[in-house]
Amino acid sequence: MGEKTLFEKIIDREISAEIVYEDDLCLAFNDISPQAPCHILIIPKKPVSRLAESTDEDKELLGHLLLRAKEIADNLGFSDEGQGFRIVINNGKNGGETVPHLHVHILAGRPLLWPPG
Ligand code: AMP
Repeated sequence: MGEKTLFEKIIDREISAEIVYEDDLCLAFNDISPQAPCHILIIPKKPVSRLAESTDEDKELLGHLLLRAKEIADNLGFSDEGQGFRIVINNGKNGGETVPHLHVHILAGRPLLWPPG
């Protein structure tokens, strides 16, 4: 087995994080360097490196991540009128990926610009 990624160490509680949600398939925690008033990462417990490495076998898992991300945003009031949120998955070097363990960013709490930089 290769060395654990940072996010696997968070899943295994070897590195601490501000966990906001957990179930059998995923873990969600506050980003350590928030880019918006709300910046949460939701990650699968299965070590999928990045979206490009996922397969049809991960169909349910990918759906689960998006549905839980939506619920987390809902529960924080970001589906309310006048609010909103953004879901981001960075993939590979030019995509801005820095941790090789699939993660879905939930960003909210301020108007977000488009297109991204
Ligand atoms: P990405 O650039 O899409 O790979 O996102 C990786 C994210 O992980 C960045 O937004 C980092 O701020 C975040 N991050 C790195 N280390 C930690 C940590 N120990 N706890 C929480 N978030 C982290």
